[in-house]
Amino acid sequence: MGYSKYTEDIEKIHSLNIFGTFLDFQVREPKPIHRCGFCNFETDDRQSRDAHILKEHRDAAIYLEYDDRIVPDRAVFKVRPIHLKIRCPALPDGIEVTISSRSKKLPSRTYKDGALLKITPPDEEVVTIQLGIGAYKREYSISFRHQTFSAKLTTTLTAEVKSANARISNWEWPDVDKFKTALLGEAGLSEDDNLHRHGIFEFYHALWLEQNRKTAFAQHFEAAFKDLRNFSDPLSQMIVSYFLYRVNCFDSISPLIPFPRLRHVAAFFGSPFDSLVVNNRPKPKDAEGEFVVCEIAIADADESVLSALSAVQCANWSAALQHCETAEQQILANDDQTRYRVLFLRYRIHRLQGDTGASRRLAERLRVCSVKSFQTEAESYVRSI
Ligand SMILES: [Zn+2]
Repeated sequence: MGYSKYTEDIEKIHSLNIFGTFLDFQVREPKPIHRCGFCNFETDDRQSRDAHILKEHRDAAIYLEYDDRIVPDRAVFKVRPIHLKIRCPALPDGIEVTISSRSKKLPSRTYKDGALLKITPPDEEVVTIQLGIGAYKREYSISFRHQTFSAKLTTTLTAEVKSANARISNWEWPDVDKFKTALLGEAGLSEDDNLHRHGIFEFYHALWLEQNRKTAFAQHFEAAFKDLRNFSDPLSQMIVSYFLYRVNCFDSISPLIPFPRLRHVAAFFGSPFDSLVVNNRPKPKDAEGEFVVCEIAIADADESVLSALSAVQCANWSAALQHCETAEQQILANDDQTRYRVLFLRYRIHRLQGDTGASRRLAERLRVCSVKSFQTEAESYVRSI
């Protein structure tokens, strides 16, 4: 003989007894209801409510504010340090925040709604801030500039740059001088404009010196970089990013640059081998979008590298290797940075197509190169096979 339990959930408020009056006792604790503030979802389990909010309404539920304004996912700040306000009003337990940059990664900490997060971004680096709970994350990229300058982009400037791009290969010294006068002699330039024009002149000056086998070119490239690095216009950003590419500082090329080809190049040379994605050709331009052309002259060896990388993107290995060969013939004597870059590119092409013999031979040569990231990868590859 035994007993079984018979259970019914009696609704607290609306249940009547046999006399038609409301029940006035409470059988058990009422079930708590946790509602989603964004839709009709409700549950008695707060954790599943939080999971629901994170899954369905992440962008509305978790965000950052700066100075009472919502921070975009990718942002550049001029002041430092910056205090960002964590916002997660629908998640009273708070969220986990992980801050990392190339040079360091801090342990995750939990912050509640309204808490201030102080970050001091390192120069030339992008700080990634991950907000979320468990697998649900939202990511911000924040970078820092001491100052940003803006320059007037005039029709004279545009015309001069366009003519330099077309004619630099036939320039004689007087043409270099004329270009300088035309850029810097324009009427009505502010102090910032002058710095900008000087930087642009130095870039073309450097390219010309380089192609004419004058060793002083390197310092002029650097002068262009220093002048232009804090300007926000596309022309300056393109020259600065190209300079960083030339000196194999791929990590310093901002992921925020608006140039898809260069972004791809920086990602190819700057990411670990295992994270490379090939056969991922970007879709052709959307015919409906508006596009602005930004153009500079570059060394022809670099144009060949860009072509090789386009071939890599569609896994056309033989074309890619052919472009590398062309690049090697175009590299100037003493240009070790470009030589190492092309060598590394060839090694990766062979490795991507699974040619262990060739990639190993090239990796052996890279073990003594002065570009740290190339050398480290080659070293560990040679050890692993
Ligand atoms: Zn909801």
